[in-house]
Amino acid sequence: MGVTAHDILRQRTRALTPHPVNGKREYVLCWLMQALRAKENPAIDVAILLGNELKLPVVVIHALENRYPYASHRLHKFILEASLDLQAGLEERGLRFVRWVRRAGDGEVDTVAKLARRAAAVVVDDVPTFVTRSYADDLAQRLSAAVWGVDACCAVPMNAFPDHLATTKQFRAAHTPLREVHLETDLEQTPTVHPFAGELDLSPEDATDLTIDQLDALIEKCGVDMSVRAMANYGGGRSVALERLAYCVREVVPRYKWTRNNPSLEDDSTHLSPYMHFGVLSPREVALAVSQAEEAGDVHPAARYKFFDELLTWREYFHHGCRHIPDFTHWAGLPDWARKSLLDHAGDARERIYDLEALIHGETEDQTWNAAQKAFVLDGWMNNNLRMYWVKQLIRWRPDPREAFAIACYLNDRFSYDGRDASTYGNIRWGFGDAKKGYREINVYGWVPGRSDSALRKRQGVAEWLREQAGREVPRVKVPQDLAEVDRRYL
Ligand SMILES: Cc1cc2nc3c(=O)[nH]c(=O)nc-3n(C[C@H](O)[C@H](O)[C@H](O)COP(=O)(O)OP(=O)(O)OC[C@H]3O[C@@H](n4cnc5c(N)ncnc54)[C@H](O)[C@@H]3O)c2cc1C
Repeated sequence: MGVTAHDILRQRTRALTPHPVNGKREYVLCWLMQALRAKENPAIDVAILLGNELKLPVVVIHALENRYPYASHRLHKFILEASLDLQAGLEERGLRFVRWVRRAGDGEVDTVAKLARRAAAVVVDDVPTFVTRSYADDLAQRLSAAVWGVDACCAVPMNAFPDHLATTKQFRAAHTPLREVHLETDLEQTPTVHPFAGELDLSPEDATDLTIDQLDALIEKCGVDMSVRAMANYGGGRSVALERLAYCVREVVPRYKWTRNNPSLEDDSTHLSPYMHFGVLSPREVALAVSQAEEAGDVHPAARYKFFDELLTWREYFHHGCRHIPDFTHWAGLPDWARKSLLDHAGDARERIYDLEALIHGETEDQTWNAAQKAFVLDGWMNNNLRMYWVKQLIRWRPDPREAFAIACYLNDRFSYDGRDASTYGNIRWGFGDAKKGYREINVYGWVPGRSDSALRKRQGVAEWLREQAGREVPRVKVPQDLAEVDRRYL
C-alpha cells in the first residue's frame, strides 16, 4: 500500500512532552505561531485528525506577544493581516478561532497555557528557529499534557532526515526522491465534529473581533518599535500572497533563472520569502503551482529546476541544518576553521570602521552596500545577489568578526520581513565561512572568501539603479545604545 496522508501527518509530528492525550478534555488546541494559513497547514490537519478520533472539536489560537525580539509596527502589521485571513479561512473550515494580542502594560496572563489546560492535547507548529521554537519548548515544559510539534514549514518534513547531511549535495540527493510523494499527497482533513461553542475567556487581550481598519490603532497600543514601519509592498495576508503566487508562476518563474541576480529588475525574483517565513504560503503549494505550470508548458524545466533548487533544496537544507547543528544561529556554531581564521585576522588593519548608527541607516562610503541596506530598512526585503555582497562587507567594517556576525544577523532580523528564519542564519553562515575555503589567505578575511561587487555592477541597469537606491532618504530608526544588546543574541 502506498503512503497515505495519515502516514505523512504522523511523520511530521513529534511529541514535545511524554504525556498522553487526555480524551476527557473539551477540545484539541492548535496554537499557531508561524504557520499563519488556514489551508495547506499540516499543524491544523493533525489537530483535526486527532479531534475526529477523540470526537472533540479543534480550537485554533493565534497569540501575538509584544515582547519577541524586533517586534515592530512592520512585523506586527504583517502578522495581524495574515491572522485576519487565517481566521476567515478557519471559520470556512468549521473551526473555532480565537486571537490574543498583548498590549503594553497588560498583566502576566498566560493565555495559551490557560486554554491548554482544558485541551486533550496541544498541537503547535514546529519551527527550528527563533521564538517559535523556544515558546513551544517553554509551553511543553510548563504543561503536564500532550504537546505535539508539527512541521508545517518544509515540503519534505524535517523528520525525514534523522541524521545530519553535511553538504547540499548530500541533502539534494536525499531530498529529491522524496518530493513526489510529499508534493502529491493531499493532507487536508475535514472536521467531523461541530465547532467548539463554549466560553473561552481571553480578556483583557481578546482580539478575536479585530477588523482590518482597527489594526494600526491596536498596534499603537502594543508598545512595539514604531520606528520600523510596515511597507505597502508586502503584507496583506493570504489573499494577497495567493495573487502574488499566481502572478509569479506566470510572469516571474519562467524567466527566474536569468533574472534573479539582477536587483534592478522589478520582478527579479518572486519576493515570496516574507510569505514563506510567516507560513502564509506553504512550500508545497508554491512548488505544486510551479510543477503544474511546467506540465502545461508555461515554465521551462530548467527554470523550474533552478527555482526548486532554491525553494526546496537550499531553504530546506537550512532548516535541516538548524535542527542538527548546535548553535546554528550563533557565532559559536560556525565551522572551527572559519572562526579561527577570521579571529586570526581580527588585528589586520581595516580601512574603515562603521558604528551601528551608520550601518543601520546605510551611511557608509560604499554605494552598493548603502543601496542594499536601504532595501532592508525602507522596503523590508533585499535581492539575494545583493545580500551576498552585503554580508561579506560587514567583516571589513568591524574590528572583531564576532561583532560583524552579530550585526549581520541583527540587521537582517530586525528589518527584513523574512528575517529570523533558518535561511537567514544559513546564508549569513555562508558569508562567514560555512562553505568552501578560499584559494588563498587574504587580509581581514583569512581563508574565508571575500566578495566584490564588480560582476553585480556589470549587469544591465544595475549601476544606475544602485546610485538611485543609495540616494534614498532613510527616516531615523531607533539605534541600540550598546552593542552588547546586539551581540548577546548571536554570540
Ligand atoms: C546574507 C543573506 C541573508 C539572507 N537572509 C534570508 C532571510 O532572512 N530569509 C530568507 O528567507 N532568505 C534569506 N536569504 C536567502 C535569499 O536571499 C532569499 O530567500 C531570497 O532573496 C528571497 O527572495 P524571493 O522570495 O524573491 O526568492 P526566490 O528567489 O523567488 O526564491 C523562492 C523562495 O525560495 C527560497 N530561497 C530562495 N533563495 C534562497 C536561499 N539562498 N536560501 C534559502 N532559501 C532561498 C525562499 O523561501 C524564497 O522565497 C539570505 C541570503 C543571503 C545571502
